[in-house]
Amino acid sequence: MAIQYDFDLFVIGAGSGGVRAARMAAGKGKKVAIAEVSDLGGTCVNVGCVPKKLFVYASQFPELFRASQGYGWNIQPSQEFNWQTLRNNKTQEINRLNAIYQNLLTNSGAQIIKGRACLKGPQQVSIKGQIYSAENILIATGGWPYIPEFEGSELAISSNEMFSLEHLPQRAVIVGGGYIAVEFAGILNGLGVTTDLIYRGDRLLKTFDPQCSEKVTEGMIAKGVNIHLKTEVSSISGQKNNLTVHLNNGQSIDAGIALYATGRKANTKGLGLENTAIKTQANDAIMVDKYFQTAEPTIYALGDVIDRVQLTPVAIQESMLLLEQLYGDSKPQMDYDNIPTAVFSQPELATVGLSEQQAKDKYSHIKVYQSDFRPMFETLGQGEGRVYIKLIVDTDTDRVVGCHMVGDHAAEIIQGIAIAIKAGATKANFDQTMGIHPTIAEELVTLK
Ligand SMILES: Cc1cc2nc3c(=O)[nH]c(=O)nc-3n(C[C@H](O)[C@H](O)[C@H](O)COP(=O)(O)OP(=O)(O)OC[C@H]3O[C@@H](n4cnc5c(N)ncnc54)[C@H](O)[C@@H]3O)c2cc1C
Repeated sequence: MAIQYDFDLFVIGAGSGGVRAARMAAGKGKKVAIAEVSDLGGTCVNVGCVPKKLFVYASQFPELFRASQGYGWNIQPSQEFNWQTLRNNKTQEINRLNAIYQNLLTNSGAQIIKGRACLKGPQQVSIKGQIYSAENILIATGGWPYIPEFEGSELAISSNEMFSLEHLPQRAVIVGGGYIAVEFAGILNGLGVTTDLIYRGDRLLKTFDPQCSEKVTEGMIAKGVNIHLKTEVSSISGQKNNLTVHLNNGQSIDAGIALYATGRKANTKGLGLENTAIKTQANDAIMVDKYFQTAEPTIYALGDVIDRVQLTPVAIQESMLLLEQLYGDSKPQMDYDNIPTAVFSQPELATVGLSEQQAKDKYSHIKVYQSDFRPMFETLGQGEGRVYIKLIVDTDTDRVVGCHMVGDHAAEIIQGIAIAIKAGATKANFDQTMGIHPTIAEELVTLK
């Protein structure tokens, strides 16, 4: 007789990956539980993509107010910004999304179990003292911000706290050079906070095409962010809301907050991995094979906790492939090539495919097409904004293998280009495509 389990699938973590997996499995008639220690929707909904983008929108208004004057409007620059209104409206919107997630899960038939889940064995999970058995377990516990330990590090905050600040400081120090640091620098600067970005490296956004990170850096400086490269924080003193950040070059900055955006680690603390055969990497990320199976054959893991590509659509796609594999007819593998991504910095950066250097390493002959121009909006708007576009072509096949863009609407534009690149479009296909005039994007089909 077959062994009876409480559930066919027990999902740990109701974030981007976990929710999709639980809903789909329940939709296929499986008995599913999903455990969540915090709010439904995970990082993306509660302290990531969604609230961040709302804050980005909020921070763009002062530039629009300024530009509006050239277009005949008489609007005074925003002096009346109210942080509490933005924060509370954001929270209301997130609560609405949390409720939608609750309905989606409940309507699919998945059972939501609130609390911190701990693995007790290859097919056992415990929550608040109760043990549940499951044929398979999926770990989708995401990541957690990492702040290094140093003198005064307890005074630093992470991106998690940025979404619920009681007051907006007059001055903020942000530490880090990755996308979260750069995005928050744009948000705070746009909201009128004097912003200092401290980074120990010599180039922000170092995993992106160098010209693009350079354009973002130039744009941020033009908008007023104080960028300190090759600089480190040696200590923080003072008390909450009233800090002094000491730098290794002898300078110090008085600031209301010190935001550390210095990386994230896989969220495996207290998960009970020691009760299983699961193996982890040095950065705590769970090791899985190409089918998301851990060293414990009944347990799978995906999303940020496996640290492949830390993006919401990737976690969702990994879930769909896992579900097909577990309960469908095929065994598809994840294709991590040509994943488009954006940094909602100001100016915005978006990219798909290979950087110039990666293309040089991979192909014998490449050609790079570039354009750097002032978009039409800035003419009457009288702003300094520019657009930079770079297209990389493998000349042996004429295929476009990378497209990078800095400037307004970059993310919206690159999403469309990603379809073309995924479909194997050639430079000739780009050239044969009619532009939409007058737009920023038409430049992509007229690059010579
Ligand atoms: C500031 C910020 C901005 C971001 N912006 C973007 C963006 O613009 N675009 C984009 O694509 N991605 C963005 N991301 C990344 C994106 O949020 C993640 O890639 C995505 O949320 C990963 O989904 P996941 O399912 O792996 O984990 P998560 O969404 O992190 O969900 C994990 C869930 O598991 C829960 N959990 C953890 N341990 C346990 C336990 N033991 N028991 C029960 N529950 C547990 C957590 O509470 C959490 O709800 C951003 C991230 C951050 C931090």
